[in-house]
Amino acid sequence: MANKLMLLIFVVGFALCVESKYMVYNTSAKIVPDKLNVHLVPHSHDDVGWLKTVDQYYVGSNNSIQGACVQNVLDSLIPALLADENRKFIYVEQAFFQRWWRDQSPAMQKIVRQLVDGGQLEFINGGWCMHDEAATHYIDMIDQTTLGHRYIKEQFNVTPRIGWQIDPFGHSAVQAYLLGAELGFDSFFFGRIDYQDRAKRKAEKALEVVWQGSKSLGSSAQIFAGAFPENYEPPSGFYFEVNDDSDIVQDDMNLFDYNVQDRVNDFVAAAFSQASHILANITRTNHVMWTMGTDFKYQYARTWFRNMDKLIHYVNEDGRVNALYSTPSIYTEAKYASKESWPLKTDDYFPYADCINAYWTGYFTSRPAIKRYVRILSGYYLAARQLEFFKGRNEAGPSTDSLGDALGIAQHHDVVTGTEQQHVANDYAKRLSIGYKEAEDVISTSLAYIAQSSSESGLKLQQCPLLNISYCPPSEVNLSPGKKLVVVIYNSLGWKRSEIVKIPVVSANVIVQDSTGKEIESQILPVVDAAMALREFYATANVGKSPVGGPLYWLAFKVVVPPLGFSTYTVTSGKRAATTSVREKFYRSDGNQNDAIEVGPGNLKLVYSGSDGKLTGYINGKNMVKSSLEQSYSYYVGDDGTKDVAPVVPQASGAYVFRPNSTFPIQSQEKIPITVLRGPLFDEVHQSVTSWIYQITRVYKEKQHAEVEFIVGPIPINDGLGKEVVTQLTTTIKNNKTFYTDSNGRDFLERIRDYRSDWNLQVNQPMAGNYYPINLGIYMKDKDTEFSILVDRSVGGSSIFDGQLELMLHRRLLVDDSRGVAEALNETVCIPSACKGLTVQGKLYFRIDPLGEGAKWRRSFGQEIYSPLLLAFSEQDGDEMTNFKVPTFTGIDPSYSLPDNVALITLQELANGEVLIRLAHLYEVGEDKDLSVPARVELKKLFPNKQIIQITETSLSANQKREDMEKKRLVWSAEGSTHKSQRVSRGGPVDPIKLVVELAPMEIRTFLINFSKKLSTL
Ligand SMILES: [Zn+2]
Repeated sequence: MANKLMLLIFVVGFALCVESKYMVYNTSAKIVPDKLNVHLVPHSHDDVGWLKTVDQYYVGSNNSIQGACVQNVLDSLIPALLADENRKFIYVEQAFFQRWWRDQSPAMQKIVRQLVDGGQLEFINGGWCMHDEAATHYIDMIDQTTLGHRYIKEQFNVTPRIGWQIDPFGHSAVQAYLLGAELGFDSFFFGRIDYQDRAKRKAEKALEVVWQGSKSLGSSAQIFAGAFPENYEPPSGFYFEVNDDSDIVQDDMNLFDYNVQDRVNDFVAAAFSQASHILANITRTNHVMWTMGTDFKYQYARTWFRNMDKLIHYVNEDGRVNALYSTPSIYTEAKYASKESWPLKTDDYFPYADCINAYWTGYFTSRPAIKRYVRILSGYYLAARQLEFFKGRNEAGPSTDSLGDALGIAQHHDVVTGTEQQHVANDYAKRLSIGYKEAEDVISTSLAYIAQSSSESGLKLQQCPLLNISYCPPSEVNLSPGKKLVVVIYNSLGWKRSEIVKIPVVSANVIVQDSTGKEIESQILPVVDAAMALREFYATANVGKSPVGGPLYWLAFKVVVPPLGFSTYTVTSGKRAATTSVREKFYRSDGNQNDAIEVGPGNLKLVYSGSDGKLTGYINGKNMVKSSLEQSYSYYVGDDGTKDVAPVVPQASGAYVFRPNSTFPIQSQEKIPITVLRGPLFDEVHQSVTSWIYQITRVYKEKQHAEVEFIVGPIPINDGLGKEVVTQLTTTIKNNKTFYTDSNGRDFLERIRDYRSDWNLQVNQPMAGNYYPINLGIYMKDKDTEFSILVDRSVGGSSIFDGQLELMLHRRLLVDDSRGVAEALNETVCIPSACKGLTVQGKLYFRIDPLGEGAKWRRSFGQEIYSPLLLAFSEQDGDEMTNFKVPTFTGIDPSYSLPDNVALITLQELANGEVLIRLAHLYEVGEDKDLSVPARVELKKLFPNKQIIQITETSLSANQKREDMEKKRLVWSAEGSTHKSQRVSRGGPVDPIKLVVELAPMEIRTFLINFSKKLSTL
């Protein structure tokens, strides 16, 4: 008995006092050809600002909003990777990574470099942020990606191979071909496509495709593109952050809740649900990817890796499927090796809806002021880098780098989208403003340096970032006799421009002369009350004090500016030779005043009704276009979701989602006059549509388009209703449901109302579901004419009725739309004495052309909108015209200009002295009969004073030689594609002696150039 008892105690004791057993998990699994391979891809999705600012996310402050600290992610990752050489991780956002990297010791940096070299840590996507794809301009997308890619190249000598746009809300054609294939990416993965599209693609195993985003570049710029089956998170039940509630893998028999077999079964079931060889399959080949992570995960990386180690070990022991640590590169190679053919995808994945009432088309317009700020600074950054190059980069500063950094972050899919919290939006605006300030210094000192031919220039040039609200202290000066205002006007485009510029002045008695002393035709206009109110409030909000002075006038005059250069004009007080604008008022009458009012001093006339002041017609005597044309304003009332009953999920209109409840035309108030101001350069039509919508329409003598300047806001909400304000322009064009919108300001895509080419659309939201993002413009056509509208920022738009184009200009909503931002999109602006809803000022441009003639205007004028003339001012004494040694300048050969179909989209001296240039062909194949042809750029004439000693063509992000990129390119097989019939044209290699760059339609070519001597223009 005693012995037996002793034995029992011994046995139990053996079980309880366990022997120490160091468990080694076998995590070395590689791909197994005849099994289903589950690629576990550990990742963290780190938004560079959303609910918290980018810095708050990085350091982990403000955790009451969201417990997120990117520093923790990167800190905890390194030891976790070192603990097992089979573990892998991908990292995406370089804005965060560089914050961390610069704080690491040389020893830690060495370790991290080894992890990168060993393939354990891989940079993918690799831009400063994961940019949005709807509200972004392609030049910004290129710039922010270049920033990240060159940083990775410099620090690690690697080039990212994979596009990873897992969170943006829909996906653009430009992303696929330009920011994918042209970067040399092997593949591109994303999470958000329309729920109807996704369902069909799952059923047809068509989530993964070969995407040809460009009609012009065709198969030469295609990419393997994979939409995830659900989202970018792990399968349900496989979340392993330290506080997640998924069951961890408990494999210690000596402890309770041992669950290895259960977890293995869960894993196998989840894998088979995606697999190819059972009924419910959704993916081709025997490879599936599991995105093991989500927003701000891996703050304690060991819990993830500990559980994945165990899963790989036990699942592979089980043997039904093969689990492995992987990356999207390894996954892509496996898909490629399968020699499978993939469905061919063209056009894009817009708009995105995640359920029947939730079209994410509101964010195309959300926060229109931030969208405009980003666009203005984008063009400004381009110009600033040119001038920085002409003067020579100064390592002691100032530089354009901080603006590049701020703009890089601003392309993030929660910034320019308008889907961030208000305090975060403020933080981005602050960063942009700081970047602007430094770039302003670069521009002013460079212009002064060139104008004075000297680095010792005492010339001070000032600029006016608040010109849009009629606020410009440097031009609002009293010009007593002997004083003059010199205006330097810089043109960042590669062709000569002739335009009207407008500046606020304090006296109407001024004359304008060019740099030869010749008086220039000018026009004086009043600054109207609506603009004065905007100036008063917003100048106070921006500079912290109420603006002084007035009354104010606009002085408009015609300027001619050489390519990549400047002209100077002088404003002095004097007796005007030019006419002041003639003011006419037209009141709504009782219907007796039937005469039409024609407006416009040149070929183009807009016709207004004499009885109600409404726009009725459009006549251009030059190209014999005559059309009826009307304009109206309406608003949608944002649905608040309260009428939705189960099972329909309540859905409000908000920062992301556009869900109109109803539409209301905005009725003009009674007896509001339209005022016409006629002048020698242009006519203006002023209309006060309501107390909160003011509009000025301009028709220029020498331009064949009309310009609409709108001031919208504060949108009234005292009725408790959120509103989304649109304007519609209506013609008799029979566009048969068809219209065209641009992809990120580049290619135009055909859109058909209530239709998708990839699936049979079930229409649940006839307005919101037909909205598309617009960055350059929208147009429609019939057999005779085409009608185009160009925009000054990203907006949403559509053609809801035949003959009509609609643009959403502003939104103010009172309910959050339940997509995470947790704030209503109700922007207000405060000064010490008051807070008001945001007012937005902006411009639209429209034109009607004979069929086939519109592209020329959309492309060349579109480039002028992106790169407006840049004005700088200096008040001077003395009798000479200007005190400038060089009153006019061009950075290129004076006899040269770029071809009409080419833009120089980058000219930048890099920190290492190399010069980065990008040339972009502006036309698609077949878009214009004269300009959709190959173009040639003569670099010797572009850089007349320098000798090119080396020129290297690179990938779009300038991180590898183009030829190396082409050698590595994977050639994917698309179903039904006939390679022979697709002859794609591209420019040939650049001869180092002739130095001529050829560009085929829609081609962008990137070069790094070394010049023989220290950079100096002069
Ligand atoms: Zn995100």
